[in-house]
Amino acid sequence: MKKTAFLASLAFMSAAFGYEAQVTKGALPATVQAMLEKANAETQVNFKESDFYLIEDRALATSRFQMYVQHSQQIPVAATAIRIWSDKVSNELILAEMHLSEATKKGEKSLALKYSKAKFSPGALKSKKLSQAISHIIAQEVAKHDTDNRIISMKFTDQWVNGDLVRAVEVRGRRGVHHISVSLLKNAVVEKNYMEFPQSEQFQTVRANVFPIYEEVESTGEKLPYEVKELKFISVNLPDGGENPLSVFNDVKFPENRYHPVLAETEVGQQYDFWSEAALRRKVETAVSQFPTRANDFANGMLLQGKYATINLHPAAKEFKEVNFPLKASTNHLISWFNVDEEWEAKPVSGLQGKVITSEDDLLSRLPERLPDHDPVAYINSGFDEVQVYYGVTVLMDALAEMGFEDAELSTKPFHAFLYDPDLSMKDNAYYYDNTINFTTYNSHQANLARDNPTIWHELGHGVMERIMGTHLGYADSKGGYGGLSEGMADFVAKIIVEHQTSGADFPGKNDFRIINNTGFYLTNEFHDEGEAYGGAMNDMLDVVIAKYGREGLYDFTDLTLEAMRLTRNHPALSAKSWYEHMLYADELGSEVREVGQFKDIIANALVKRNFSLAADFKPSSMKVTFEKGELTNASDASRDRPLVECGVDGVVTHDLKIDLKSGDAKFIKFPAIVKVEFKKGALQGAIKWEGEETNPTIYSVNSEDEILNIQLKASMDCETVNQPDGSCKDYAYLQVFNHDNLKPVAKKRFYLKLNKAECI
Ligand SMILES: [Zn+2]
Repeated sequence: MKKTAFLASLAFMSAAFGYEAQVTKGALPATVQAMLEKANAETQVNFKESDFYLIEDRALATSRFQMYVQHSQQIPVAATAIRIWSDKVSNELILAEMHLSEATKKGEKSLALKYSKAKFSPGALKSKKLSQAISHIIAQEVAKHDTDNRIISMKFTDQWVNGDLVRAVEVRGRRGVHHISVSLLKNAVVEKNYMEFPQSEQFQTVRANVFPIYEEVESTGEKLPYEVKELKFISVNLPDGGENPLSVFNDVKFPENRYHPVLAETEVGQQYDFWSEAALRRKVETAVSQFPTRANDFANGMLLQGKYATINLHPAAKEFKEVNFPLKASTNHLISWFNVDEEWEAKPVSGLQGKVITSEDDLLSRLPERLPDHDPVAYINSGFDEVQVYYGVTVLMDALAEMGFEDAELSTKPFHAFLYDPDLSMKDNAYYYDNTINFTTYNSHQANLARDNPTIWHELGHGVMERIMGTHLGYADSKGGYGGLSEGMADFVAKIIVEHQTSGADFPGKNDFRIINNTGFYLTNEFHDEGEAYGGAMNDMLDVVIAKYGREGLYDFTDLTLEAMRLTRNHPALSAKSWYEHMLYADELGSEVREVGQFKDIIANALVKRNFSLAADFKPSSMKVTFEKGELTNASDASRDRPLVECGVDGVVTHDLKIDLKSGDAKFIKFPAIVKVEFKKGALQGAIKWEGEETNPTIYSVNSEDEILNIQLKASMDCETVNQPDGSCKDYAYLQVFNHDNLKPVAKKRFYLKLNKAECI
């Protein structure tokens, strides 16, 4: 409405808009009666005071404000109001404005008829049956939306709109609000629109070249193309920590003998200076929050720091000479341990700021080049890896937020990435630790993991789990609080994001992911392999869910997984059984987006197919391996951490193994089964010279569960390559059981040797 176009007293609008008028200071008494008299005189309609609800009457600083809304059959008429501002002392009119619907008033009788014909009454309008019918129409309407088709909440108002009784429904989605109007008389959608939530102004978006998945396929070395994508949620302002942002911690001690994650959270523990990574992190964040801020823009040199990720170089990257930009300390830290006077002490150490961005063209000119030697200095100078890691982290967090990761603080704090750890013993690695994701340098034949989103997403999977499942979580299945569940679920988080990004589209290397396997529960002897059963089972479930529900299924199952993570938060001894029980419980609870019990059967069926059941009397298929020292387990002799050590410079060592396969209730291992002894192709294999490795693998067949398979392993004392700091070689024979129809093993155990240990000579 253009008020300036109005005459001082009143004005007519076209009939479709009804009657609008503005009455200025002192022109009429400041009463609704006076206004209605005016309106009636101008419209020849007989508005009565009883046609209006008084809905607001309040003192403003400079006037008294009253607001009336027109109604018919007790239902408000859309966009009608009489608003009156008057002098608080003299009651003199300051201003009045009227927006009335003549048509509604004139058609009062026919509206009443329509209303009663449709069997409406104030009570019927609030009936559950009507509400459900309309909800159904709304759900169908929202489902049609491309990017925001989840209903988080719904509220409605009934009103008359142009002679039609309309229910205006406001649906909150993940990213915005749908306004949908349904005619209650016609039972149809009459209007709809969608508005995204206002984007917070703290962030900015720029465009850059990135790899949507990864730079190269691990198995084939094939190179994939990069493309222009948005880098979202870059902070508009950054804390300015000066030359040495963490200097306040110079004299604060975090000694190992005061490390205690539980006590650090208690008052008494804090009195005695107990600390933990989380407590230290809070201290640093408090210090950083007090720094002045500066604009993070092209003029100042933009850094890749934002809502979900900050990009830093590893503090030790200072040792790289010929970096062509100044290496300044960043306000983000990682924890370093120092040995001081025979005691271990932790310190928060600043990372280094990355390469600044001076314009979008400058950023778009950062192109990835796959250097044959992965020269870290050239990579640092190009600045591409920073962009890729920022992109990878942000995509994951943004996607999870869209799918229900909305937990206060946990879902909104950035992860801190540290690139180019120069430590040579850390080469070819990426890992998660205490809110940080860390990258190293790479050997020429390895992939640069900073350009590999699924790797970034796996590591962040550990981070998301740590945030939601808590830092006090304990795993029952493995020692050291680090289990197959953790590895399998990190793989699964990565899988969720791959699926979110690709919607099932193929890409080179997709089928090489570890999560795609046939490994069963109870059929491995180390957590790397155990994780395959967890991840594999989750993957099986998601495949079925997506086949049944499509992309919506991905969102729903992610919602379920996140809820199961919340419900297992800080579980002191989480096992496969308790994890899946909590998934089923989360399923039973249902959610804003899930039906109660929606995934019950899918979860149960997937578990049966992985040699797993929650039933107490369930007997899984088994693979028992025995040798001269008893049974091979995850903690026995010949396991990863306790390899059989044998000394000498020549000769051959021999071990006689017996393999006993049982199919149990699960019938997971099927006969005749194939047993392959793999010497070469497993991860990190190749240091020991095994007899028979020329014809790798050695293949056996087991015809029934009564047959015991005898295998003789022979290895040369003479190492093929030394892979241990003490001059020895450590390696394993990979005992893998295949069902006839499977390309991947259903059971696998590793038998470890460590040979030619120098000090025995
Ligand atoms: Zn991992």
